[in-house]
Amino acid sequence: MSKKRIAIFGSTGSIGVQALEVIESNSDFFEVEILTAQTNDKLLIQQALKFNPNAVVIGDEKKYETVKSALLNTDIKVFGGENALEEVAAFDTYDMMLAAIVGFAGLKPTLKAIENGKAIALANKETLVVAGDIVMQKALEKKVPVIPVDSEHSAIFQCLIGESRNPIEKIILTASGGPFLGKKPNYLVNVKKDHALQHPNWNMGAKITIDSATLMNKGLEMIEARWLFNLLPDQIQVLIHPQSIVHSMVQFQDGSIKAQMGLPDMKLPIQYALAFPHRLANNSKRANFTKISSLSFEEPDIKTFRNLTLATQALVKGGNLPCVLNAANELAVWAFLNNRIGFLDMTAVVEQTMQYVNYIEKPNLEEYFESDGEARNFAASLIKI
Ligand code: NAD
Ligand code: MG
Repeated sequence: MSKKRIAIFGSTGSIGVQALEVIESNSDFFEVEILTAQTNDKLLIQQALKFNPNAVVIGDEKKYETVKSALLNTDIKVFGGENALEEVAAFDTYDMMLAAIVGFAGLKPTLKAIENGKAIALANKETLVVAGDIVMQKALEKKVPVIPVDSEHSAIFQCLIGESRNPIEKIILTASGGPFLGKKPNYLVNVKKDHALQHPNWNMGAKITIDSATLMNKGLEMIEARWLFNLLPDQIQVLIHPQSIVHSMVQFQDGSIKAQMGLPDMKLPIQYALAFPHRLANNSKRANFTKISSLSFEEPDIKTFRNLTLATQALVKGGNLPCVLNAANELAVWAFLNNRIGFLDMTAVVEQTMQYVNYIEKPNLEEYFESDGEARNFAASLIKI
């Protein structure tokens, strides 16, 4: 069997680094073809020297010369700047892209890889939130598999194996609830970023960790699920499950429910997506049900965590509204991480931006980019940056 050649877009992030650990442990199955990073030149160089890819991209052009000279004595091609991401996504020399860039920036390279007929392991949920209709349509046309890496969607994907003829009644997306489960607005108003960055169950990049604390992450995941599994909004239910053992569930029309379970470890869904349709042996810690005292489920508190309501509105109304929600949220999270606004202000920025930007029912790609820009400008004016 020839090795699967993997292009990791966002290799220096939480998902990217864990994917390289999976690849290192399974070097008979995988090899690294492309690595990309935005600013972390040091780590990108280390990764390149270790995994010897065909090409690397450093997004920040100021760091291009540093990366280029560090890799001078190798055969590794070095590219710099935003456009290089699409350039290397168009290469013929890889089999699968792991889309692990964070945010809207992941959309263009992922679309390019799909146009190029490459399989996608999708961590970058924002790609589907922004332009899920266009992305999934293109994947269908090009017969490109889009395998989810997000743990909830990987769970649903796994539950659906062997069920292609059986309609889904609904899916249940589980949410840990984040570090502020049970808290009320009078507490949240004073929350600082260091506290919000402490997730109880998962160790992830800063943006998704804040999204988990505000429950926007679950809102984005509802929209992501809508496109991945072709669901109607009322087929998607969110339940808080603080133990993060049941990664999500599917209920079929006979009332039977399938769940996928395991300890919270992102290497499992990453490995599953890279190796699909195979399951590779590993030494990850096993769940012991006699040590797990309870598995509990409860309704989310949508009065306090209003991002879930906003995301549901965007999901139901569709059009450019999820794109606007995403753009405003990216800016709001950035502002919170830079101590410009408070925890609850993030929701206010998203809500006001959703009200401001003109609604487009069936946007084309250009209109999604325009809506993204318009939403960012308006959100920036609210934040006064
Ligand atoms: P991260 O912040 O740790 O890493 C992001 C990566 O993207 C880095 O390699 C960075 O260099 C690159 N990047 C950042 N901005 C960029 C830009 N403008 N252009 C090009 N590259 C850029 O993020 P992460 O936690 O690894 O998450 C990556 C994606 O996976 C996100 O969409 C997130 O929602 C999703 N995801 C992550 C986890 C997790 O456990 N970390 C779980 C599920 C889904
Ligand atoms: Mg998730």
